[in-house]
Amino acid sequence: MIRVGVNGYGVIGKRVAHAITLQDDMKLVGITKTKPDFNALTAVNKRHPIYYVVPENVDLFKQHEIEVSGKLEDLLQEVDVIIDATPKNVGIFNKPLYEKAGVKAIFEGGEKADVAQCSFNTYCNYNEALNKDFIRVVSCNTTGLARTIGPLTKLGKLGKIRVVLIRRAADPVESKKGPINAIVPEFKVPSHHGPDLKTVLPGIDIVSVAVVVPTTIMHLHTVMIEVDGSFTRDDVIETFRKIPRIKLIDSNEGFASTAEIMEYARSLGRYMGDLYEIPVWKDTINIKDGELYYMQAVHQEAVVIPENIDAIRAIMGAEQDGEKSRKITDKSLGIDD
Ligand code: NAD
Repeated sequence: MIRVGVNGYGVIGKRVAHAITLQDDMKLVGITKTKPDFNALTAVNKRHPIYYVVPENVDLFKQHEIEVSGKLEDLLQEVDVIIDATPKNVGIFNKPLYEKAGVKAIFEGGEKADVAQCSFNTYCNYNEALNKDFIRVVSCNTTGLARTIGPLTKLGKLGKIRVVLIRRAADPVESKKGPINAIVPEFKVPSHHGPDLKTVLPGIDIVSVAVVVPTTIMHLHTVMIEVDGSFTRDDVIETFRKIPRIKLIDSNEGFASTAEIMEYARSLGRYMGDLYEIPVWKDTINIKDGELYYMQAVHQEAVVIPENIDAIRAIMGAEQDGEKSRKITDKSLGIDD
């Protein structure tokens, strides 16, 4: 049994914690909370032991009749690996605590790549993460791109890859973020997403640009890749069809936008109505004048959860074969093989 803790129980942390409880080879020892908010109540309902990180708030937990099992440092004594799901750029400050406790750590995509010995995606570089001390699961956008571009690199030689990312403005829970009536360009051009993808797919030639739109669920990626004629549209469809963490969808099935995709996802009955797979619109896949085109969406709150579970097996060296880990994870999460 791999003993796992989750530091930071927000959008990503609570989903990873839940997924850990579904694994036969892992045990969730506990999670941390800064304050006794609604996420703390979720942890109570799910019987996850709660550890505190802000000593001044311990009395607040008592006032809300929420039992705490100790502090973060106590949790670190009990685990083999910690998932750091604290907000962007906070994990780097936690790293010395993990080092001191001699605990392995998995960081998330909001941290810079150099927080870890390697960045991670199951389909791209599972083996690189084996037995490391610190790894980083790449962000939701990067995971989405890695899921489709990674397999395409094995199909044939890819030329320049261009991606336009249309990004959700905030997660559904974030009531104070905007914009609510504007499309905001990311003024850093090209955006950081291309270089981030290269942390798990170093051989590719990619540029990306991004805009932020007033929606809370799902990013949409428009992908354009120069190809050399060695494979066809049907080969691309067949490649995507064989990958369980990609779901081919079609506008003729009523998937007219991200709204229908998330309505479909909620009907699957998974935790939080999550869609772990990357939906790719089959009808957008086309090869014209030496360029492959397709559009895909990303359920940003959910997509990295399977990779976090695989990352635990990889960092612990508990499963040497990424494909075997993927199968175990997918079965536990209800992803069809
Ligand atoms: P979040 O804000 O929803 O959750 C973070 C949690 O950590 C909150 O509950 C917060 O109270 C807590 N926290 C804050 N400081 C802490 C500290 N010092 N110690 C312990 N807990 C602390 O954030 P999130 O969206 O879950 O993001 C977590 C990480 O995952 C980030 O690196 C982010 O970039 C990445 N990520 C987010 C998404 C997404 O769409 N939300 C997708 C993929 C990756």
